[in-house]
Amino acid sequence: TVLLSLRGLHKAYRGDAAPFALDVPAFDLAEGEALALAGPSGSGKSTLLMMLALATPPDAAEEFTFAGQDITRHWRAGRRDALAELRARCIGVVPQTGGLLPFLTVEGNIALTQRIADRPDAARVRALADELGIRAQLGKRPAALSVGQRQRVSIARALAHRPSLVLADEPTASVHPELADAVLALLKRECAAAGAALLVATHDPDRAARAGYPVLVCETHAPGADGIARSVFARA
Ligand code: ADP
Ligand code: ADP
Repeated sequence: TVLLSLRGLHKAYRGDAAPFALDVPAFDLAEGEALALAGPSGSGKSTLLMMLALATPPDAAEEFTFAGQDITRHWRAGRRDALAELRARCIGVVPQTGGLLPFLTVEGNIALTQRIADRPDAARVRALADELGIRAQLGKRPAALSVGQRQRVSIARALAHRPSLVLADEPTASVHPELADAVLALLKRECAAAGAALLVATHDPDRAARAGYPVLVCETHAPGADGIARSVFARA
């Protein structure tokens, strides 16, 4: 079943210094599917993920449906409440780095997405902590954890409320290179186990391929006569 459908998605930033345009001609993501989105820094990966996180509106879209809802229509109608609710219930985000609340325990941090989605489930928090090897850390604060442990807490938090889509923007940026492969593999395994679709943005297609991801490589075009740098995200 298709979870996410994009047709003719367009977004542009008209900065004085570096105008930029992003296009997604056609793109589908199935339930439970994992995919890495590869492109160099500045190619628009974060911008695309922000649109998929329902946090930034596209400038234009012929079709943008997610979880059976017409996202374009919600944006046009200014239905930020509907978008926020859909995001809280159906989307999990693994940030590049940090993102954990320092004054909450690991358990509190993982449970945060459940609280926001109004879907408390302490047993799931513990089960995820077991699977990710951070059970002994549940009562600690993030500051007492290693970088790799913190990233595993982020993964658990992104999955705790049973989202249908997990978005990860360079989730290995802050971890040691030796750990990066493991984090990507773990993220993929956990999303598969949870039945969640997964989109990982990365500047390193080889690493993503090594971790078993199908890789979607973004086509980038240097600024032409109009001075606009363009990125096209399209499946081969
Ligand atoms: P990536 O994640 O691939 O590094 P980004 O999506 O962060 O790429 O950025 C793509 C381009 O859009 C860059 O040129 C960036 O400077 C520009 N950009 C991103 N966000 C904004 C914004 N809020 N306002 C203006 N320009 C932006
Ligand atoms: P990354 O390349 O790791 O994705 P960036 O440093 O490009 O991160 O962007 C970090 C944040 O700043 C993003 O939320 C992005 O949208 C925003 N941003 C990036 N470039 C600009 C810009 N030129 N003007 C305003 N905001 C920007």
